[in-house]
Amino acid sequence: KVRVRFAPSPTGGLHLGGVRTVLFNYLFAKQHNGTFVLRIEDTDQNRYVEGAEAYILDCLKWCGLFPDESPEIGGPFAPYRQSERKALYREYAERLVAQGHAYYAFDTPDELEQKRKDVPNFQYGHAYRNEMRNSLSLPEHEVDKLLDEKVPHVIRIKMPTDETVSFTDMIRGFVSFDTNLSDDKVLLKADGMPTYHLAVVVDDYLMQITHAFRGEEWLPSAPVHLLLWEYLGWKEQMPQWAHLPLILKPDGHGKLSKRDGARLGFPVYAMNWTDPKTGELTPGFRELGFLPEAFNNLLAMLGWNAGTDQEVFSLDELIQQFSIERVNKSGAKFDFEKAKWFNAEWIKRLSADELKPRVVPILNDKGITVSDEDYLVKVIDLVKDRCTLLTDFYQQGGYFFEAPKEYDLNAVKPKWTDAKTEFFNTLSESLQAASQWEATGLEADFKALAEQKGLKIGDVMLPFRVMLVGGKFGPHVFDIVALLGKEETIRRIGLALK
Ligand code: GLU
Repeated sequence: KVRVRFAPSPTGGLHLGGVRTVLFNYLFAKQHNGTFVLRIEDTDQNRYVEGAEAYILDCLKWCGLFPDESPEIGGPFAPYRQSERKALYREYAERLVAQGHAYYAFDTPDELEQKRKDVPNFQYGHAYRNEMRNSLSLPEHEVDKLLDEKVPHVIRIKMPTDETVSFTDMIRGFVSFDTNLSDDKVLLKADGMPTYHLAVVVDDYLMQITHAFRGEEWLPSAPVHLLLWEYLGWKEQMPQWAHLPLILKPDGHGKLSKRDGARLGFPVYAMNWTDPKTGELTPGFRELGFLPEAFNNLLAMLGWNAGTDQEVFSLDELIQQFSIERVNKSGAKFDFEKAKWFNAEWIKRLSADELKPRVVPILNDKGITVSDEDYLVKVIDLVKDRCTLLTDFYQQGGYFFEAPKEYDLNAVKPKWTDAKTEFFNTLSESLQAASQWEATGLEADFKALAEQKGLKIGDVMLPFRVMLVGGKFGPHVFDIVALLGKEETIRRIGLALK
């Protein structure tokens, strides 16, 4: 039975790479009728940020990637917040000490700092551990005394010397590591909290995780985790690992960071995130006007493809077609223009009825209240192919609800003449008298009138558009007229002529 987990640390907003990890976990779980677990890895109290966990939950909800077990909904392996599991980790760390795979270290922060000053590129590991104050270097009676006196200490893993650790990653294939390159990572801190390294192994074991997807940045930690699985006697149950490719800057140079978004003018977070300490706002895809359907779709394509020309996928289609074999090893460049393309495609793909509840808040934000929902559906149908972001519905559709407040007069060329005023006055009268109100007929009448008045169609058509919408945009003029209705069209001509 497949069990996967997304295990974020609540340290801030969720970067799109984080949401992609959620997505791949989710797709894999659903595809195998498995279970998707959300576990909050909050053991690092220094990096804990108020509100980050709630943000992560909201984000999963927005994306529609619902966990089956989580701190919020519980489950058979609760609690799902590591800080609430604190008591159970010590036993495993002590077991490792008893077996000789870990040791107590009594070095004070000052001592460690001094050592780092004295030794360039200091690593607390096989080369130096004997020079430090720990249960490997000190005589036994002294260690016992320090423990009796409850002198603050941590527990560190004893990395083996001159060994190679290897495993087969689902994406990268065979990977191996030289144990000499890794330091003796702290497993249990002085306050009794586990570090990430111990907690992730213990919890993946206790929660019976079968497959673990995480970002490539965790690959260097893999040898430590592997050894812990082995030392704790759980190697048979170790999950299969998949280290997901990095998401790169648009130019391909390096990992896409939060700062790149600000610099290049696009969001890298799923939703707006305000840092509770600094008040700094990092913009999100949601608020910019992305649909979750498009967001999931574009994330899936960052590192994966179906091996066909198909690029637009619903979540169900992704569940059907996703395969870990088709995830690339190399990093995926993030292209914001392409991201917007996905959104435009999804706006086209959704029906006006489906879009309606998402467009209403956009219009409300701009002070427009929608009283006639059927009318809104018609508006959406008429303009949705022109919208890239949900927020575009205001510019493309807002004028159906309120007359333009200003007119783009630059768009109206050549110059205005009395003949044109006279034309529009006559137009108003004939519209008033019109017995039908349908785009083709209205257009034919308009053209006939222009001809009769000796005016070029184009010279009056564009001004007519500007009178109705305020500028040189929007769908076919007579589709607008047909939807606005007789009274409102005539009113807008009147307003513009004033
Ligand atoms: N807590 C780690 C993080 O914040 C999780 C890494 C993992 O999935 O093992 O990314």
